[in-house]
Amino acid sequence: AKSMGGNTVSYYSSDLDKRIKDKMRLEQKLRVALDKRLLEVYIQPIYDAATREMIKGEALVRWMDPEEGFISPEVFVSLAEESGLIYDLGSLVLEKVCAYLHEHEGKLHLLGMRTIAVNLSARQFFASQLVTYIEATFKQYQIDPKQIEFELTESMVMDDVDQAIDIMRAIRNLGCSLSIDDFGTGYSSLSYLKQFPINTLKIDRSFIKDIPEDKNDVEIAYTIIAMAHNLGLTVVAEGVETKEQWQLLRDKNCDYLQGYYFARPMPMSDVLMLDNVINLL
Ligand code: C2E
Ligand code: CA
Ligand code: CA
Ligand code: CA
Repeated sequence: AKSMGGNTVSYYSSDLDKRIKDKMRLEQKLRVALDKRLLEVYIQPIYDAATREMIKGEALVRWMDPEEGFISPEVFVSLAEESGLIYDLGSLVLEKVCAYLHEHEGKLHLLGMRTIAVNLSARQFFASQLVTYIEATFKQYQIDPKQIEFELTESMVMDDVDQAIDIMRAIRNLGCSLSIDDFGTGYSSLSYLKQFPINTLKIDRSFIKDIPEDKNDVEIAYTIIAMAHNLGLTVVAEGVETKEQWQLLRDKNCDYLQGYYFARPMPMSDVLMLDNVINLL
């Protein structure tokens, strides 16, 4: 029993040890991948619910490690956030998006993709150089700021509401638009929402995935759409995977839809081969 106890203890500690080592190894790999600029940016098109026209896109970072395969951004974005690598990751994404917009402006305009949304994490958003950096990057790539939207989450904005509003205003003053991502998952304070200089709410996928079966979720989605419109905001539903979801959301005047039913995130070059209006069965 004594030796078994000893084994158990060493089993648990080596398990923890292994997790820490794995994390450090992944962080080191991410550092190297960022230095070599091996990360890629995929784009997922977003469609007008009523006309089925492509309207904008969301940039989503991708990391293919030769040994590990595709690693989920859920894993490495938070790792980057903890380790400070998020600044390099964020600038890689913004620069790739700007280079793409610069090179393919005409084609993207024809496609209807006039704006590309870029996700910002908390540390990026509150970094003092953020707005100066964004402005300099637009100049470097000769980008009209109207072509870029930034996605923020409720929870990160609620960390320091007054400062967040100042930063949001500065970003809007550049000419960019702003959306609140994953809406409904943070503790949403409606009185604050009214003060945020934002353009769009994105209904979190968790409220979309079980509609139309889950009647509570249907009601929540309707309520968010109506509330957003009352505040003068447009609404995007995330994670639309079925025809029923599309039709229900369209009939309730949800403006824009994003999800596998329409298109998965894809390499930037693939976007250029899409049709402006999507054909749905
Ligand atoms: P998010 O910003 O909420 O992005 C939407 C996620 O939903 C993406 O996952 C997308 O691939 C996925 N998705 C889209 N449509 C559907 C659908 O119909 N069904 C399902 N099941 N999923 C759908 P992805 O690309 O794995 O990204 C996960 C998260 O990682 C993002 O969530 C975002 O929080 C973060 N992330 C991704 N790229 C970046 C980036 O460039 N910068 C930062 N800071 N975070 C990023
Ligand atoms: Ca997003
Ligand atoms: Ca989201
Ligand atoms: Ca999310």
